[in-house]
Amino acid sequence: MIQAKAAVIANDEIMPGVYLTWLESPQIASPAEAGQFVMVRCGEEPEYPLRRPFSIHQRQGGKIALLFNIVGKGTQWLAQRQPGDELDLLGPLGNGFTINPKARHLLLLAGGIGIAPLVSLADEALKRELSVTLLYGTPSAAQLYPHLPKVKIVTATEDGSAGKKGMITDLLPDFISGADQIFACGPLPMYRAMAAMPELSNKPVQVSLEVRMGCGQGICYGCTVKTRNGLKQVCQHGPVFELNDILWDELKEV
Ligand SMILES: Cc1cc2nc3c(=O)[nH]c(=O)nc-3n(C[C@H](O)[C@H](O)[C@H](O)COP(=O)(O)OP(=O)(O)OC[C@H]3O[C@@H](n4cnc5c(N)ncnc54)[C@H](O)[C@@H]3O)c2cc1C
Repeated sequence: MIQAKAAVIANDEIMPGVYLTWLESPQIASPAEAGQFVMVRCGEEPEYPLRRPFSIHQRQGGKIALLFNIVGKGTQWLAQRQPGDELDLLGPLGNGFTINPKARHLLLLAGGIGIAPLVSLADEALKRELSVTLLYGTPSAAQLYPHLPKVKIVTATEDGSAGKKGMITDLLPDFISGADQIFACGPLPMYRAMAAMPELSNKPVQVSLEVRMGCGQGICYGCTVKTRNGLKQVCQHGPVFELNDILWDELKEV
């Protein structure tokens, strides 16, 4: 894990309330793997003592990109950064996704901003010449991430403005049998719906958990969750877990 200053290259609102931030950070970009995250200092101490966790959304050479929703004070601050500003990062953190070397067909499931870590996973899978299908659910067409070349995308929107009307988990059962591995990132209700699907009970399914996180380094235990194998810290043992490892009834909404 590295603490590094990263210059902002670009910071654009690419969808309403969603920012794509490109950072020059060779020290973090080089070792980073899909599914890992960085802790970003969002503002000056003492007003903003805690860094905020963000998935590594993309990597290109020495650059990394973050994709984030504006939620509260920290992300508002981050959205205002300009090219040339410097950010203070810790990373890469966490375990990341694991692609089984025998897998040929990957199914990705994204709920809203959960698309963030799945784009770097899709990039990695395409580099390995695997087939990638993305099931992508958002509230409406306005929140759909603009482009993902070479990925087969099936969408669902809650208001029916793009793709099928409804939740993306409604479409999931039709795609399970064709997938060697499934990877998901989204809100807790999406995971609860997945955990209740009998078709997934024997499938390898990796999910990236988003919980309240304090330090990101295993010190504060603020991100501890209950699993079938005992208590685990999301920042150290995750954020990626096997779907069936998590005790979903014990997990609280962020
Ligand atoms: C491993 C991981 C990866 C994440 N990746 C992304 C991403 O790629 N894009 C994205 O938009 N969001 C991501 N999040 C959520 C993001 O960290 C929060 O939205 C952000 O911290 C909110 O900060 P804030 O100051 O704007 O909000 P506030 O509500 O003011 O934050 C107050 C405190 O709560 C914590 N917090 C608030 N909401 C969340 C949340 N949803 N998850 C975790 N901590 C939270 C903050 O870190 C901070 O300590 C990720 C969370 C985790 C744990």
